[in-house]
Amino acid sequence: MITRSPDLLQSVIPTVTDEARDWQTQLAKAIRDPRDLLARLGLDERWLPGASQGHALFEVRVPEAYLSRIRRGDPHDPLLRQVLPVTAETDSVAGFVSDPLEEAEHTPRRGLIHKYHGRVLLIGSPTCAINCRYCFRRHFPYAENSPSRTQWEETLGYLRRDPSIQEAILSGGDPLASNDKRLAWLVGRLGEIPHLRRLRIHTRLPVVIPDRIDNALLAWLKDTRLQTVMVLHINHPNEIDDAVIEACKRLQNAGVTLLNQSVLLRGVNDEVATLAELSERLFSAGVLPYYLHVLDPVAGAAHFDVPDAEAVALIDALRTRLAGFLLPRLVREVPGEASKSPL
Ligand code: SF4
Repeated sequence: MITRSPDLLQSVIPTVTDEARDWQTQLAKAIRDPRDLLARLGLDERWLPGASQGHALFEVRVPEAYLSRIRRGDPHDPLLRQVLPVTAETDSVAGFVSDPLEEAEHTPRRGLIHKYHGRVLLIGSPTCAINCRYCFRRHFPYAENSPSRTQWEETLGYLRRDPSIQEAILSGGDPLASNDKRLAWLVGRLGEIPHLRRLRIHTRLPVVIPDRIDNALLAWLKDTRLQTVMVLHINHPNEIDDAVIEACKRLQNAGVTLLNQSVLLRGVNDEVATLAELSERLFSAGVLPYYLHVLDPVAGAAHFDVPDAEAVALIDALRTRLAGFLLPRLVREVPGEASKSPL
């Protein structure tokens, strides 16, 4: 199970302003017990032993706003499948490992991953609003990669000294699980680095708690001189409801470019009709479908894997149904490669 030291959880404890309280309360009240999850969805206890086994490896976390989009009484709901632990997570499968992208090899500073030319990834928060069962960072040592303010200064120094770095990527955990005071400070400091052009934020929070896109967040987004790209992680069209569409509009009005990356997941989105509808709904919400990733081979997620030949057949079929700009790029991340690899 991922454990967090108390100081690392400070960023998610409700504090700050009235406006922030709402999303932070939702975050704090997310379901964290597999028994509660099953009860809330009207599912019987035959699912509990498997859910408890998976929960022991990577804890359950599901906020209410996401729960409300899951069909009651349907154990095969594609959103539920992303968050309900199952016995298969305990299987040991050849090739599925704890650090599939070998991130530990590319961590020159605490909380900083530098793999690709021109870009660095900063671990903006040690926590997420939702725990996705397929997450490639489900075993990530967040406790070792959560910088103090002094360590952030060292990281900023690293960026300042390397003029080839043009883009800072906030990832996590989910960087938007951190509070706005902290994010405004960090983004302000990044904006002072003359050779940085872009800020990229990878997040699932606008999807799982759309109220996260509040005025406090929009204020620092509007304030930065950096061009800002937000990469949402949406895997199924049912994840996009009216509240998500509204959150996307608010981000667009703040000048943020919205992209989406999905993971191809067995039993969630491994059908042409589902992927086509996902692209359509994303674009209607103002989000460009950018990447469709094949699963990173992380231990505990092998049951989500879709073989390459099937993935390629799916994207070929999609190509015949969608306009080119709605077709995501099918890619895989290979450790040691200079960029993502197309399939
Ligand atoms: S929100 Fe992203 S980082 Fe967090 S568990 Fe889900 S996939 Fe992993």
